[in-house]
Amino acid sequence: MLTFSAARDLVISRSTSLFASDIAPKPTISLSVGDALGCVLAEEILTDREYPPFNRSTRDGYAVHSAEASAGATLQCVGEIRAGDTVQEPLAQGTCVQIMTGAGLPPSADAVVMIEFTHRDGDVITFERATQPGQNFVPQGSESAAGDVALSPGLRLGFAELAVAAQVGHAKLHCWKKPRLAILSTGDEVVPTTEIPGPFHIRNSNSVSLAAQVQLAGGTPVPVGNALDRPDDLSTKIELGLREDILVLSGGVSMGKYDLVESVLRSMGAEFYFDAVAIRPGKPAVFGRCRNTLIFGLPGNPVSTMVTFQLFVTPAIDILSGASARPLNALEATLAAPVQEKPGLTHFLPARLSWPESRPQVRTVRWQGSGDITAMTQANCFLIVPADRTDIPAGDRVSVLPRLDVL
Ligand code: AMP
Ligand code: MG
Repeated sequence: MLTFSAARDLVISRSTSLFASDIAPKPTISLSVGDALGCVLAEEILTDREYPPFNRSTRDGYAVHSAEASAGATLQCVGEIRAGDTVQEPLAQGTCVQIMTGAGLPPSADAVVMIEFTHRDGDVITFERATQPGQNFVPQGSESAAGDVALSPGLRLGFAELAVAAQVGHAKLHCWKKPRLAILSTGDEVVPTTEIPGPFHIRNSNSVSLAAQVQLAGGTPVPVGNALDRPDDLSTKIELGLREDILVLSGGVSMGKYDLVESVLRSMGAEFYFDAVAIRPGKPAVFGRCRNTLIFGLPGNPVSTMVTFQLFVTPAIDILSGASARPLNALEATLAAPVQEKPGLTHFLPARLSWPESRPQVRTVRWQGSGDITAMTQANCFLIVPADRTDIPAGDRVSVLPRLDVL
């Protein structure tokens, strides 16, 4: 059986070849910078001018010729420069000028002395410390030159990237359209949240958590509802899902008599790249392709659905978004209480990461197994227990996978 990282590698390679092929639609849209958070840039953005565009003071103080502002020296203050003021006149010998943070230095000035290290008597400024050339300003062009690449295609736009786009004057950005993910839950027992469940029915929580995870990962969720565990209903609803870039199913992939997802998909022409992964929860997860749609069949137990989505669907979303797959952002932490698991499968246990005395520490949360979503609300990560570790004592260094939305 595949390890989870081998399974992820398959997702990455299959998604990449689908995205690279001519059949994958790759439409782009123009978004205003305020609407582009989380989208993937489809164009190269160049820097429009030098940054900073002028020698920019980083302090409130006095612009000087550094050689004239030694400790104990005095200079005549001949004016002030506020942020935004145009400065053209060079600084005259034997003078200084008051300057604000963000203002441009006058030509020939080569330092700013912080106001805290000066004494003012009328217009005469006394300097208390030695002054170094270059201090307290950022030289023109030192951050970037005009024409530099500010942002490259394939970059996912976070707040810093959007700030750079704004800085260089790109109010509109060409982005890839987000991939669309059909979400289809399955199960005769599953009823919509808006209906009153019978005594042995359960409400459809997976469609809700999956749609949220799709949005967090950068895709557009397309709800297809719930299919009964019957070939006819399954194939009708799968057909709807095959209109989208990715179809995510929950439930119906285990060994039960009515777990029909894989066989119905096969009868519709699907091929599968894996149909089990050596993890718990989530072992029966399947990944394949039907026509031009990638398909993930995730086990229906809600925590299994959540874990397998994060491990396997997220990289496919990245790639069909025009980005590269984000790496699994596992962190190291110290285990707070011992953990025992059976060998053979890599376990992903709902756990809580905290930082007592600024050191990452993790402990598992109490749970009743992969149906227990209430436990998940206590968890901000999954503790990764490797397949070959049965007993991990408290104090050991362990890996944790932060939840997509919490950390
Ligand atoms: P399955 O993978 O179909 O065998 O389902 C495993 C467990 O997950 C069963 O207890 C199901 O009732 C439950 N389950 C399946 N689908 C959903 C869903 N959409 N929402 C909540 N629980 C589900
Ligand atoms: Mg089922």
